[in-house]
Amino acid sequence: MQERLKELQQEALNQIESAQSLKELQDVKVSYLGKKGPITEVLRGMGKLSADERPIIGQMANDVRGAISDKLEEKVAKLEELEVEKRLASESIDVTLPGRPANTGVRHPLTAVVENIEDIFIGMGFGVSEGPEVETDYYNFEALNLPKDHPARDMQDTFYITEELLLRTHTSPVQARTMEKYAGKGPVKIICPGKVFRRDDDDATHSHQFMQVEGLYIDENVRMSDLKGVLLEFAKKFFGPDQKIRLRPSFFPFTEPSVEVDISCVMCKGDGCRICKETGWIEVLGAGMVHPRVLEMGGFDSKKYSGFAFGMGVERLAMLKYGIDDIRHFYLNDKRFLEQFKRA
Ligand SMILES: [Zn+2]
Repeated sequence: MQERLKELQQEALNQIESAQSLKELQDVKVSYLGKKGPITEVLRGMGKLSADERPIIGQMANDVRGAISDKLEEKVAKLEELEVEKRLASESIDVTLPGRPANTGVRHPLTAVVENIEDIFIGMGFGVSEGPEVETDYYNFEALNLPKDHPARDMQDTFYITEELLLRTHTSPVQARTMEKYAGKGPVKIICPGKVFRRDDDDATHSHQFMQVEGLYIDENVRMSDLKGVLLEFAKKFFGPDQKIRLRPSFFPFTEPSVEVDISCVMCKGDGCRICKETGWIEVLGAGMVHPRVLEMGGFDSKKYSGFAFGMGVERLAMLKYGIDDIRHFYLNDKRFLEQFKRA
């Protein structure tokens, strides 16, 4: 019996020694030390032994169990340590590897320009209003002094959805809607940025969809000189402090008098070049004093109130500011074009 116990101990120790995983060790533990294991079996046979032998064998069986347990514990600790080492090795980070650059997006140049324009006018006390892109004929034309038979309502220029519904051709309907909201009480001081639509063939300078910013200021005693002052301030803030502007007489149905506004050429500073056709001036926007009839239709007493309005094309301003020669660049979504505005 002593021989058998010694054999079992040696066997168990060998198996523990060669075990490669915690699972194998668990199996060894169960098969040698479990209730159905060989050592338990040996102890069960002790009834047949003499009283002298019994304590010796009992002691020995306990020693064998103890030796196996100790060895198991030792090996478990060793394997766990190895496992940690292995994990650390596999998770180690090579800090000398170059990182992957994060691909950051960039604001679209038109968005950036609109925000720039908004900031400038907000700084002069204007609020920002928006309105629907699908408009009624009334707000897009009639409320702006363009009755149905007016020659300026060229069918060719407008995307009609029904006879009364259309894609707005300018942001002026927002002005008409805003006037209604103020119900005849000034001051009104807003700009309206947004998309507009015209039935134009797309080329380097025309697009069937583009952006406008219009402005409206109604109060008592608003004068033409206020309009000029606001536009000059805008031009200086947008293009630079040396910017000059000039006003030329023009015609729009919704303003009287009306003007075209030129800025001194941003390329040649007024000396004359290809961009300004050697004139030194570039036309950038239309403006004028709000027509009394438009004021009345908007609910304002034209004897008490006066006002000015202006409208500018965002793409045109952006093209001049950044030296872009084709309006289509804004819509083609070529990343090489867009990424140039990361700094701007
Ligand atoms: Zn020029």
